[in-house]
Formats: sequence, structure tokens, C-alpha cells
Amino acid sequence: MNIPFAPPYIDEDVIKEVTDSLNSGWITTGPKVAALEQGLQEYCKAKKVNCVNSWTSGTILMLRWLGLKEGDEVIVPSYTYCATAMAVMDANARPIMVDITRNLTIDVEKIRQAITPRTKAIIPVDLGGVPCDYEKIMELICSKEIKEKFVAESENQERLGRIMVLSDSAHSLGATLNDKTIAQLVDVSVLSLHAVKNLTSAEGGAICLNLPEPFDNDETYKELRILSLNGQTKDAFTKTKAGAWRYDIIAHGMKINMPDVNAAIALAQLRKYDYLLGERKRVYERYSELLKEYHWAILPQQDKDNLTTSYHLYALRINPITEDQRDKLIQYMADKGIATNVHYIPMPMLTLFKNMGYKIEDHPIAYETYKREISLPIYPQLTNQEIDYVVKNLVEGYYEITL
Ligand SMILES: *Cc1c(COP(=O)(O)O)cnc(C)c1O
Repeated sequence: MNIPFAPPYIDEDVIKEVTDSLNSGWITTGPKVAALEQGLQEYCKAKKVNCVNSWTSGTILMLRWLGLKEGDEVIVPSYTYCATAMAVMDANARPIMVDITRNLTIDVEKIRQAITPRTKAIIPVDLGGVPCDYEKIMELICSKEIKEKFVAESENQERLGRIMVLSDSAHSLGATLNDKTIAQLVDVSVLSLHAVKNLTSAEGGAICLNLPEPFDNDETYKELRILSLNGQTKDAFTKTKAGAWRYDIIAHGMKINMPDVNAAIALAQLRKYDYLLGERKRVYERYSELLKEYHWAILPQQDKDNLTTSYHLYALRINPITEDQRDKLIQYMADKGIATNVHYIPMPMLTLFKNMGYKIEDHPIAYETYKREISLPIYPQLTNQEIDYVVKNLVEGYYEITL
């Protein structure tokens, strides 16, 4: 058998939607993007959604919109994909890394300890699709003590009057906490529509706005729209209408709009996202059912009364195992035709961040997690027979390597 890690879900409906875009005479930002934004807004229960060309660009845009400047700090978990911190650096600020808890999401107590008068935003990450403890995070940053520490240094910071919470929702489309979507729990949540994510446009991102009073999310949507198109007052689609040629450049924006051809892929997938999520859940639960009897298998966060994940990763941990044994297990699986992965190498272990002075010793849980983590393949197309084959080889590999 040959089992890839996370192939995209491309069916006839996706191909039809993309072909429709190609045949329409308009291939960049236009009606498909508008339909995708509308669809995501309804699905995520956001007040407004801006589609852009990646999670990274969307997050840089939001942080620039917030008006960060050199010396400002943004708190991120150390256990995430590097983009979470690099977006902060691209917005001119310094990522402050804090450790995670056992369910792989940011430790709220560590956030409290890391807040200074320079803290302008927090980017919690819903790792693998598991919602962070947003209720505690919001309670913390809205508390009198923390609000009093906050120093507003831009118009939007002034209006918000506290630290902004921007969720890295790259994994968590469809996850819920107390019957709320992630977008409903924070100020802004940014989705990634990269090829390996639950919903994809090949490359893409979506900024889900849920800004509190006195912000007008419709106005902010328009503002971001312009900022994502070089600061140009009219998009190319509007400009092509006969006679509507005149435009102005009103701000120093970025060029990060999503093309319609890309939006078409995600649009077709979004129409059947309930089905796609259900299939991921089937895979997730079958893994858990098969693995729960092994004392060495630490299962990832399971759904419970007030929380459902989006089943983006099956982030299994193995105990006892050494880092070297884990690497051997990955090779053992590869030899059987099964692609697995590690999510993630903690950022302080990566050269760039090491050179900047971050230390893995400050992140013991991230390190402990990394050493024993192995992500199993999970996607709607994975059959029960394939799941059984993955587990059979994982179990055999574990005993061969550790005994
Ligand atoms: C994929 C991913 C990103 C980056 O998404 P892009 O759309 O590729 O920019 C950021 N954070 C996490 C946790 C991710 O998995």
C-alpha cells in the first residue's frame, strides 16, 4: 500500500468549478472570491471575511492594520509552524514565545506572565484543529489589571483599547468551543487555505473579522480589501467595466489578493465541507478506537461536551520513546509505504530563532511533545482498510524498535 500524508481533495465538482472560472473570461479576484467570502462568513459565523493569498499575508496585513512598530511584542506559542512568528517579524514586531499545555495549545498562565506594556497582540494557535482556551484568554486580556497595562499607540489600538486576539486558525475550520466557532470567540481569526489544510484553494487565506464595538466590520472589510490590492481604490474586476477606469492609490498596501481560479477550488469544497469534516472525524475516531488499548499511545484531544476539533491532524504521542526511536518509527512506516510527519519542531530549535536568542530550555512541554510526536495520515479519502494498515504497522514498528 502507498498512503500519502495529506493529498488534496479534488473531485469532479472542484474541477467543474475551476473550469467554470477558466471559461468565464475572468480568472483573478472577482465573483468566485466574493462567493467564497460569503460562504465562509456564513460557515464561520464571522461578521465579515476577506480572502487573501495565504494565512501568512493575511496575518501580516492585520498586524500592520493594527499599527505595530519596532519594539512592540506579540505573544505566540513556541509549538507551531514558523509562519506564526514570521508574520509578527514581517509586521515589524517581536514574537514572544511561550510554552504550550498538554493538549498542545498555548498556556494561558504563560501568556499572563509574558504580557508587558509593549504587548499589542496574541496569536494563539488551534494546533491540529483543537480550539485554544479562548474564554480564559479573553477574560485575561479584558481584565482590569491587564487593560491598565495596555498602551495604545495607533488609531486602531486606541479604538480596541486592549490587546488584540488574532487566532491562528490555519487548522481549525469547523472546530467549536461551547457551540461557538473560533471566529466568534476572538477579534480576528485567520484561516489557511494552503494545499494540505482541511479546505484548500491551493494557496490562500481568509481573514474572519469579529471586531468589537466601536469597529464597523463592513468598513474594516472595505479598508482591508483596498490594502490587499496595493492600496488601490478599485479592483481589476470593477475597473474592466466600460468607462470605470479611474482609480486612486490611497494607502501603502500589499499585493495579496486571491485569484478566482483559486477561490473556485475552495468554493466547491466548502459546499460539501460538512461531509468532508465528517469523513475526517471517521478517520480520527477509528484511530482512537484502535489505539486506545495500547498503554504507550497518548491519543490527541478527543471531542467532548463543550469542544469539537476539526480533525486536521492526528497528533499521536508515544510514551515511552526516545527522539531517535521516534525517528526510526517514521522510517519504519515509510518503508511500509506510509507517510507520517512531526508537528512541529518547536520554533526555538530552528536555526533562525536560535540565532535570535530563543532557547528550547524555556519550553519544556513543547520539547517533550516534539520528541514523542508522530502525526498519522488523515483526510476524507482515507479508507478504513488503510487506517487499519497504518495502525497495524505502527504497532508492529513500535514493538520492533523499542523491545
Ligand atoms: C499552514 C500554517 C500556516 C501558514 O499558512 P499559509 O497559508 O501557508 O501562509 C500558519 N500557521 C499554521 C499553524 C499552519 O499550519
